[in-house]
Amino acid sequence: MVIGDIILIAQPKYIIVTGGVMSGLGKGLLAASLAKLLSASGYSVAPIKFDGYLNVDAGTINPYKHGEVYVLEDGTETDMDLGTYERFLNMSLDSWSSLTGGQIFQNIIEKERRGEFLGEDIQFIPHVTNEITSWIRQKDKIVDITLIEVGGTVGDIENAYFIEALRQLALTCDRSDVCWIHVTLIPVLEVVGEQKTKPTQASVKTLQGMGIQPDILLCRSEKPLDSKTRQKVAMFCNIAVSDVISGYDTPLIYEYPFQLLEEGILNSIFNKLKIGPKSVLTLSNWRQLVDKIKDPVGEVTIGVGGKYTNLKDAYVSITKALTHAGAHTSVNINSIFIETSESIEDLNEKINLCDGIIVPGGFGYRGVEGKIALIKQIREENIPFLGICLGLQCAVIEFARNVCSLGNANSTEFNPNTPHPVIDLLPSQRTVYRKGGTMRLGAYPVLISEGTLAYTVYGKNEIKERFRHRYEINPDYTSQLLTNGFEFSGLSTDGSVVHIGELKNHQFFIGTQFHPEFSSRFEQPNPLFVGFVQKSLEYKKEKKKKEPDPKK
Ligand code: GLN
Repeated sequence: MVIGDIILIAQPKYIIVTGGVMSGLGKGLLAASLAKLLSASGYSVAPIKFDGYLNVDAGTINPYKHGEVYVLEDGTETDMDLGTYERFLNMSLDSWSSLTGGQIFQNIIEKERRGEFLGEDIQFIPHVTNEITSWIRQKDKIVDITLIEVGGTVGDIENAYFIEALRQLALTCDRSDVCWIHVTLIPVLEVVGEQKTKPTQASVKTLQGMGIQPDILLCRSEKPLDSKTRQKVAMFCNIAVSDVISGYDTPLIYEYPFQLLEEGILNSIFNKLKIGPKSVLTLSNWRQLVDKIKDPVGEVTIGVGGKYTNLKDAYVSITKALTHAGAHTSVNINSIFIETSESIEDLNEKINLCDGIIVPGGFGYRGVEGKIALIKQIREENIPFLGICLGLQCAVIEFARNVCSLGNANSTEFNPNTPHPVIDLLPSQRTVYRKGGTMRLGAYPVLISEGTLAYTVYGKNEIKERFRHRYEINPDYTSQLLTNGFEFSGLSTDGSVVHIGELKNHQFFIGTQFHPEFSSRFEQPNPLFVGFVQKSLEYKKEKKKKEPDPKK
């Protein structure tokens, strides 16, 4: 249908993002930024990410190897790119958006066992490829654009069958229904100072060898592409110069959509898909927030005490949630990592730098005693504290040991024979033997009591937040903890399980069994992080007042 010179979509369009040369070029960020630009132009966009590994989901992967495990509302444990989509699009995704090699093969093998392929030998083509295309087509009728991000690099064994499935999907569509975007690298050879195009050419050839001619090239580089480079890439890769897009380094990821817009990527996509904007592009709110980050009024230093601190990606949702809270409160967040699996002696120096400290989630005993020592100091020195999942559990252990005099109190995750199992499995978890997908996962309601810090921060009686854990505060110890000054401000709807704990005699000491960082969005920060950042700023000012005046 044509209205004016704008063609309205009558069937779904597919945008497919592949990557070449090497991993880590920011395919996810590009895809999320595109999704944002398209949705800001009035289109409904469904992003889907394919990961080639054979895990059924990301839940069993060590964050140290692959970055944080992100959790969707429906409990799906996913790659951290899904978090980028949610943060950019300000919407909740579901399990459809996260497809892995393991998931595809599990589906096929289950079908084979059910007898759905009786008499046939099951092959990559057509069985695996059909499984993929029918998964993707599930959202055909409900969205305008499906945006498919192919994890890994073209030429990998892990994603070759997936790319083949997409080639076949494209064959069943009109040429104007599919737009292929390939992300590559343009390095600069220091000695000659020249932008080199060969790796890009080689990568496009690999894609062409798979039967795919990319429509748009997103060339990652340190500086903007010069025009000679653009022309060379266009000529050798069989692409119009205007469709060679420069994706140069930007320190602030939330500015990336503006950079892409200036580079004309939206026009290239619209031309290829023969569509135009459905509504006038609106990014004013986004712009205001970016400006606030670039020109903040205050500044705080927030410590994150964990054991994966060498890999920044392991706590990516937490650092992003802090940025969001900072953007909305005009506070620049300087986050520092406090390694809790090494010597506890170094802690003091780091603590003194911090205006607030977060102890994030985690699994296993390594680093736990460091977290407990850190929390003791936070409690005693009245430093603003946010404990997330394991962070709350460590706060309870510390309080039990040092305030309630329950010597050797622990979680049974770390010491099954502890005399005081203040953190323990509920009976329903005791009979769980399969590790994959069996924790408390996804969004659950939490009831908040009035007159508590949790209520002040959230401003309502009922919230919904995302969980990912097995252990809980042991109900046998709640009355002892309460008598000594702990407060249980958030409970499950039946009142039987503690979801939020806080300290009464402290300016801001709160821990949650859920992960508030997973629901924080750039345009809609999580209230707990906002409250925490505000309190850290106050604490910093108080600290300053107490410092001796150097002039005196
Ligand atoms: N290991 C703890 C548990 O399973 C905490 C998990 C977490 O921090 N996400 O309950």
